[in-house]
Amino acid sequence: MAEFTMELNEEQKEVRDWLHGFAADVIRPAAAEWDEREETPWPVIQEAAKVGIYSLDFYAQQYFDPTGLGIPMAMEELFWGDAGIALSIVGTGLAAVGVLANGTEEQIGTWIPQMYGDQNDVKVAAFCSSEPDAGSDVASMRTRAVYDEAKDEWVINGTKTWATNGGIANVHVVVAVVDPELGSRGHASFIVPPGTPGLSQGQKFKKHGIRASHTAEVVLDNVRVPGSCLLGGKEKLDERLARAREKAKKGGVGVPPAGGWGSVKNAAMATFEASRPAVGAMAVGTARAAYEVALDYATTREQFGRPIIDNQGVAFQLADMRTQIDAARLLVWRASWMAVNGKPFTAAEGSMSKLFASETAKKVTAQAIQILGGNGYTREYPVERMHRDAAIYTIFEGTSEIQRLVIARTLSGMPIR
Ligand SMILES: Cc1cc2nc3c(=O)[nH]c(=O)nc-3n(C[C@H](O)[C@H](O)[C@H](O)COP(=O)(O)OP(=O)(O)OC[C@H]3O[C@@H](n4cnc5c(N)ncnc54)[C@H](O)[C@@H]3O)c2cc1C
Repeated sequence: MAEFTMELNEEQKEVRDWLHGFAADVIRPAAAEWDEREETPWPVIQEAAKVGIYSLDFYAQQYFDPTGLGIPMAMEELFWGDAGIALSIVGTGLAAVGVLANGTEEQIGTWIPQMYGDQNDVKVAAFCSSEPDAGSDVASMRTRAVYDEAKDEWVINGTKTWATNGGIANVHVVVAVVDPELGSRGHASFIVPPGTPGLSQGQKFKKHGIRASHTAEVVLDNVRVPGSCLLGGKEKLDERLARAREKAKKGGVGVPPAGGWGSVKNAAMATFEASRPAVGAMAVGTARAAYEVALDYATTREQFGRPIIDNQGVAFQLADMRTQIDAARLLVWRASWMAVNGKPFTAAEGSMSKLFASETAKKVTAQAIQILGGNGYTREYPVERMHRDAAIYTIFEGTSEIQRLVIARTLSGMPIR
């Protein structure tokens, strides 16, 4: 197990500087244009593929870094460049992680390369879980997957919503209900291969922020996928369902186990705890970017014959902004180190990091607008866009309220509603 450290090693510093250069030279200058166009920035993704940032190799290297600091460092730098473009670059990673976490070696080897394409023909992937009536309440999911034994195929029907890269992805990872009696324990994940009939894009959303990232509904109408597209395979699914049925028979899904709710070792919950610090790191990147613009502005803008930072009212805001950003980063790094080293999240430290960092990003970007005055409110300066972008962090991968719910349940062992 790697010791927890608050300092990047030499190799990580080199990677950070390289990513920072890409964010400053390629992402930042393109940010305003793609925000206005509200389209996937394919040329920027292609550029990222050419230099090796948009690739499974790069993502996996950071993901398996034993210090746990690889992913947070990479996310912070890319999202410092621009949140919408960075999400277009890392969005495929969310689907890839779904396959890495649950897929067989063969599935990983077959599908992940198709998610990324190659540098001359880049592709993206989508992870489709949310539905119109199943956002925070994942157990209400309705998309149904039924096994057709005669053909060894799964037939999937339903509508997914809010899918990043939904409909434009080469590979879609779709979560569906295989046993409605078991709530969220009766879900399974499927690969929908490129060009599968029956999968189509529904509405593309016009959004408040991260507008360079494509978000859309995905409609699944009698989508047939081979048995080999069930992530993890049928045998493993049957075993898991049998265990869940046994548990439901003994205690009922709604009855707390001995040791209380806090003791539940739910694999999905553990996965969320491990992935949430990455979203926290995205938020730290956006917050840091806005803080830097505000600090620079406050030291150069003069009113009443002196720089506005000469007023405590402005300087103290900057002091608070920086303090909160640094605190958020420390929570993110701790949770990420715990995830990589298999430390149990006894206080929901993953949720804690995402909650604090995302709320910080919203607050800090709003303060940055205030410090820039009228200029902050215009699109001549980037903080207006950063503030719109920051609002997503308290919503996706579990809203702030859901993070508080998870933390409170973990701390108290009570099924708080
Ligand atoms: C830009 C964007 C990209 C996304 N990308 C993806 C993606 O790639 N794949 C995917 O599957 N999903 C994605 N999502 C979906 C996202 O994860 C959901 O929007 C999120 O989980 C919230 O669900 P909801 O929007 O249905 O809100 P709801 O669950 O309806 O919540 C509405 C409000 O009620 C509150 N609330 C709900 N339940 C409780 C409770 N028990 N206690 C207290 N408050 C509660 C919430 O906190 C929130 O404030 C994306 C969303 C957006 C906006």
